[in-house]
Amino acid sequence: MSTDSVEEDSNSNNSRPPLWKFVTVEGKISGGGNVRFTCNYCNKSFTGSYFRVKSHLLKIGGTGVAKCLKVSSNDLVMMQREQGEFETRAAKVLPKQVPLLTSNSRTNSFSSSASTGPSMGTRLMIISH
Ligand SMILES: [Zn+2]
Repeated sequence: MSTDSVEEDSNSNNSRPPLWKFVTVEGKISGGGNVRFTCNYCNKSFTGSYFRVKSHLLKIGGTGVAKCLKVSSNDLVMMQREQGEFETRAAKVLPKQVPLLTSNSRTNSFSSSASTGPSMGTRLMIISH
């Protein structure tokens, strides 16, 4: 009866945004990817997605999220670097999301071309109806 271990452990750690570890997730909120989380630095609670975590910790203004007052400039530099590396990695892994209207045909866009493609200009097939 000890199922209190980390349940997200099975997830590939690679794809997890790095700043989650600086907050404590209290629980999920039904609908959307929102959660309730508490900042590990200032102990304020927020509700929202990773965007809010990022805005708070990285002190991004103009987002409607209060900036963290406890994150030092050293911490900030470290977090910005981690987030930057994560975004770079994510940009490599994920192809650019093309807004398709046909939500039905969700084929494997993950198929190939992951081996040698410095700039995969997959810009084909504009389905004109
Ligand atoms: Zn904070």
